[in-house]
Amino acid sequence: MSLTLYNSAARAKAPFQPLDPGRVRVYMCGPTVYDRIHIGNGRAFCAFDLLVRVLRHHYGANGVTYVRNITDVDDKISSRAAERGTDISVLTAETIAVLHADLAALNLLVPDVEPRATAHIPEMIAMIETLIAKGHAYVEQGHALFDVPSFSDYGALSRRSLDDMIAGARVEVAPYKRDPMDFVLWKPSDDTQPGWPSPWGRGRPGWHIECSAMAKRHLGESFDIHGGGIDLQFPHHENERAQSMCAHDGHSFAQVWFHNGFLTVDAEKMSKSLGNFMTVEAARENMPGEAVRYALLMAHYRQPADWSDDIAAEARTHLDRWYRLTDGIEAGEIDRAVLAALDDDLNTPRAFTELHRLAGEASSGSGTAAASLKASAQLMGFLGQQAEVWFRWMPKGRTIDPAWVEDRIQARRKARADKDYAQADLVRKELADAGVILEDGPQGTTWRVSQ
Ligand code: AMP
Ligand code: ZN
Repeated sequence: MSLTLYNSAARAKAPFQPLDPGRVRVYMCGPTVYDRIHIGNGRAFCAFDLLVRVLRHHYGANGVTYVRNITDVDDKISSRAAERGTDISVLTAETIAVLHADLAALNLLVPDVEPRATAHIPEMIAMIETLIAKGHAYVEQGHALFDVPSFSDYGALSRRSLDDMIAGARVEVAPYKRDPMDFVLWKPSDDTQPGWPSPWGRGRPGWHIECSAMAKRHLGESFDIHGGGIDLQFPHHENERAQSMCAHDGHSFAQVWFHNGFLTVDAEKMSKSLGNFMTVEAARENMPGEAVRYALLMAHYRQPADWSDDIAAEARTHLDRWYRLTDGIEAGEIDRAVLAALDDDLNTPRAFTELHRLAGEASSGSGTAAASLKASAQLMGFLGQQAEVWFRWMPKGRTIDPAWVEDRIQARRKARADKDYAQADLVRKELADAGVILEDGPQGTTWRVSQ
């Protein structure tokens, strides 16, 4: 077993060793469901998905427990629901449905557990009560707060001094805080806000306690890998770690922290607040979701990656070639060099280079290379569809009736049988004008949609 991973807590790469080799446990912070995800979020989910695929390859399909939560209580959700005049539960249900469609289009694995914050309120309350009982949290003006100075290891994950943190996080100084770094575990809700009864009155949880409570419930106090974008390292992950370790008598929380770099546009982080985002929905209206996935995995996951139409087009061209080369071929052995690249902290640029080498060998006639290309690309979540389905993908708004195409192909065949080649060419042109490209092969004529 030779998987090596970079651990953002240690700032170093190390061979991955699960706490329990019979059950690798991983947690990824999932989305807050008030709006559709953008392709920056998509990059985070694709990187973690690839990690889970590599873990499953090594530890078996049932040897990995993959948890990715859904944050379905949050002030952004409340204000969006109020703007729209809908109930919060209606907004979150709708957003979760489209989220699942977006994630499926990127060919993301369905997590073993997809816990929702609102289904874990009792666990959150219990953890806050434990923190209060152990002297790591206090109650003030209806709020429960984590007492940051009570945890001497605070800042170890993000390696920041308290002064940096205060400046960097622009922490809210509030009258109910004993220390400016203290953060909210529970806050009071008025009648217009979602709320649950608690020992501190009707209220709602802070974001950080949600993940600590859900990770404990589904993975236990200590588990193997915790993931998310690098922006979550501080304060979200630092706070999760503080809560969980203090509630669990100093027991370790995540062994490895896996953080992806940003997807950028003109070198700036893609984000909702900057407005420079493209939703996954918009991206997959213009190209197959699998090509979006490819483009999002092209750069190494820890590096920033700039998004451009060119990158997306390049990804699609490569997949076109691979689908063509592997059409009708059974998946063979996973290529050792591809696996070695992935085992080296998910070195996708190197893995793609090796896949292109296999494609080169396959186009020179090597059936073994084609079979290996298919298996290795499938390990990374590509080439999972029928080539026919891939080649007949259409952008939104375009439709081609397959029955009409078949009818025209028959007409062309008849014209050719009658040696009426002018008529046969006319039919080909008619199809080409409709965006259908014919390919004559030994098995007859097939068709695909032009790009
Ligand atoms: P959020 O809903 O903002 O918590 O984001 C969901 C996930 O996407 C988190 O793991 C974020 O760190 C990650 N993320 C957000 N923006 C980007 C971006 N531009 N590039 C890469 N990951 C991102
Ligand atoms: Zn989280």
